[in-house]
Amino acid sequence: MRLELPKWFDLHAHFRQDALLAPLIQAHLATGCAGILAMPNTKPPVAVVHRSEESATSWSIEGYHAMLQEAGGHAFSEILVPLYLTHNTTPAMIEAGAASGLLRACKYYPPHGTTNSEFGAPLDHFLSNGVFEAMAANDVVLCIHGEMHGLQGSDYFDSQTNAEVLFYREHMPRLLDNAPQLKIVCEHITTAEAVSFVKQHGSQVGATVTPQHLMFTVGHLVQGLRYHLYCLPLVKFDADKAALQDAVTSPSNTQFFAGTDSAPHTTKATDCGCAAGCYTGNCAPQLYAQAFEEAGVDLATEQGQAVFQKFLCDNGPAFYGFHSSQETFALEKKVAPLATLETPNGPVVPLPVGLNLKHETEPTTLGWSVEVA
Ligand SMILES: [Zn+2]
Repeated sequence: MRLELPKWFDLHAHFRQDALLAPLIQAHLATGCAGILAMPNTKPPVAVVHRSEESATSWSIEGYHAMLQEAGGHAFSEILVPLYLTHNTTPAMIEAGAASGLLRACKYYPPHGTTNSEFGAPLDHFLSNGVFEAMAANDVVLCIHGEMHGLQGSDYFDSQTNAEVLFYREHMPRLLDNAPQLKIVCEHITTAEAVSFVKQHGSQVGATVTPQHLMFTVGHLVQGLRYHLYCLPLVKFDADKAALQDAVTSPSNTQFFAGTDSAPHTTKATDCGCAAGCYTGNCAPQLYAQAFEEAGVDLATEQGQAVFQKFLCDNGPAFYGFHSSQETFALEKKVAPLATLETPNGPVVPLPVGLNLKHETEPTTLGWSVEVA
């Protein structure tokens, strides 16, 4: 079986900085990726728009975009860099940034919610200072990490509730009241509750879904404490996974699209914890194809290929307002080895390799392989 598809878009990925940029970009390109949305939680964060506004504590969209281009990203047809929303973000910055054409999206991080998110401010800050209203008025998309911060353990995660459910239940309605016209991407959603929120809000709200949240549950993570699957938001329960699978494989899907949240960590487990994030940047289309098959989609059929293409290649660009790729790549159902990504900072272990308990002696393989002309 062989699928010829337009090149795909990864509308949520982490490329970090310095010596990691080039190998990570090359790996994404080798999967047939046409364009990326590169997350701004670098060190320092991408928290201003123009190079002239940069300081020791803030990089700019203009500067980071240039860094990505120079590291090989010029081969992408689109690079979007959202602005990291911090205590210093103002409505005037949003207005000027949008007018310059550089600012197309902003990213909300719950303070201390995930890797390098300590510069984020509570949602209420942006509800009261006019930033969300300015974004709505200037057609700037909000990319949102939808998890409540500062919760106690049992509220953070148990079978009835968790940080994501609480966020979509309690915060999201207030956000939409505050800025009814705001376009929102609910990033890396993991729960049935988030899926139904997205569906209820029509074309104004989209969502990215990662390969791991379509394929795994918390049981896979805790059995043997397979920490390579540790990402935030955490993988959830079967019913949540089923809701995500239904959403992305529905023939009428226009709102859900690929965003891997691929996050490279050269050191995943540390003495006192574990870095959040799964690296899938060198194998994402293969994993998504596997996930669609596991969800019951027959990729040998025209209908099966159509729903897969919408999710991987078309819905994301349509939401952000650019064209799907005119170039193509091929996915073939053929077993292929998957290697660890070598970088000058050390090896980055892709999720399937990390989950292969025998990876020292038995090579990791994927059921699909990619061919890029
Ligand atoms: Zn992310």
